[in-house]
Amino acid sequence: MKKSELTQHKKALLAKKQDLENSIGKGVLTGSPGTDGHGDFADRSAAANEEEISIQLKQTDAKLLRAIESALARVESGAYGICTDCEEEISPARLKAVPWTKVCINCKEKQYS
Ligand SMILES: [Zn+2]
Repeated sequence: MKKSELTQHKKALLAKKQDLENSIGKGVLTGSPGTDGHGDFADRSAAANEEEISIQLKQTDAKLLRAIESALARVESGAYGICTDCEEEISPARLKAVPWTKVCINCKEKQYS
């Protein structure tokens, strides 16, 4: 991979990481909405659902954040863009779409078949 491409991917990873850290941080500071004891039963159950969804989102965020951190580590070690499974190069289009991926499309598809 060209150095300029690597720099590009690294920039994308860092930007996404910042994004996630911001949204995760915000969630913690705001606390959980709709649990102040007001409103009727329907309101409360809607609030509970929203809370559940936002917890699920946070878990996804945390998972993604770990994937991004490990991708950045691979940028540093020079292993970025190489499939960790078959050790082939990951296609540039795939890296552009999912810069934190660590497997090529073939191996990704194998995981789900
Ligand atoms: Zn592979």
